[in-house]
Amino acid sequence: MTEDKKYNWLNTISLSLTFILACTLVPWYGIKYGFTGFEWAVFGFFMVFTGTGITVGYHRLWSHKTYEANAVFQSWFAFWGAVAAQNSIISWSRDHRDHHKYVDNNEKDPYSAKKGFWFSHILWIFQDTRTDKDYGNVKDLQANKICTFQEKYYMPMLIFGNFVLPALIGYIGHTINPHANGLAHSMIAMFLVAGLLRFVLNHHFTFFINSLAHIWGAQPYAKKDTSRDNFFLALVTYGEGYHNFHHTFQSDYRNGVRAWQFDPSKWIIWTASKLGMTWKLKRMQKWQINHKKQEFWGVQSLEGALEQLKTKDMPELKAKLEKTYEEWKTALEAWSAARRKSKTCQDAKMQVKDLQNALLTKRDEFCEAVNSIFANPHSAPALG
Ligand SMILES: [Zn+2]
Ligand SMILES: [Zn+2]
Repeated sequence: MTEDKKYNWLNTISLSLTFILACTLVPWYGIKYGFTGFEWAVFGFFMVFTGTGITVGYHRLWSHKTYEANAVFQSWFAFWGAVAAQNSIISWSRDHRDHHKYVDNNEKDPYSAKKGFWFSHILWIFQDTRTDKDYGNVKDLQANKICTFQEKYYMPMLIFGNFVLPALIGYIGHTINPHANGLAHSMIAMFLVAGLLRFVLNHHFTFFINSLAHIWGAQPYAKKDTSRDNFFLALVTYGEGYHNFHHTFQSDYRNGVRAWQFDPSKWIIWTASKLGMTWKLKRMQKWQINHKKQEFWGVQSLEGALEQLKTKDMPELKAKLEKTYEEWKTALEAWSAARRKSKTCQDAKMQVKDLQNALLTKRDEFCEAVNSIFANPHSAPALG
């Protein structure tokens, strides 16, 4: 990545022009000739197909590998992802994996939110920040035949889905229910809504995840980066608005982790798993996300510590630490359960307080033990 601003003129002109035309041509045509219910229905389908091509396919399947899917499922989302015109799966995932790895780092995060709303929303695409040819972080996708096929035929698919297909559906629609102004109008009107308008809306809704979902909303899971949970963004992004959860637990196939949270992408992946089209859906353990203040409880630091210990040849100590860790998890689950009851019962409230204290003691013991190993490798700290 380079700091000097080199503009990618193809991106700049095509994104600006489509935006201007969608804001002018579509309303003008609508007022002059009107759009039919059929045209709006096709627009709706195209919105959902291209939108989920990005969320269910590009994002959760390929970038994060939160589940696995069969070839039919993959091909469908690879095609509609190409129609969404946000680059090939491989390029998109390369940028997105770097976004997670280096989030908010102005040098290495391709769309760092720290560089402001407009940069993370669209200027990074105009400025073409990824001119390097390093594809080291997507070798797995380069070994996937569907991804390489999509990379190769990305442009033909994009043109077919955005121009040919809407016009073709307009043509077929005309043979069933002729347009008052003739065949050309059936094709043009369909292209304007299902092609042009949908193209622009789908772009900006996705771009909001990189811009607004790093500015506007709550941070219930972690404050380690700028990501936010935002219900309103989830509405237009098929559930991707729960971005703080996603940045905290990126391997989870859900973004709206609660059952009631609006996350159609998660519902699609789950339903497909019942039909045998997807499998190995990754979920975080309930106890890990059952409480709000992850950093307060230090879940990640504890797991990190255990991970660090794997390099040490101290089996007895490891066993003791793992036992403490298990006890700590049990205590945390009990605390969560008691907390749920505490809203109605005074006794439970007291229990919560006791458990909370016990839990904190447990955590401190654990951290101290781990620290002492690294400070003095020969000492074996006393642990329950
Ligand atoms: Zn992501
Ligand atoms: Zn993000």
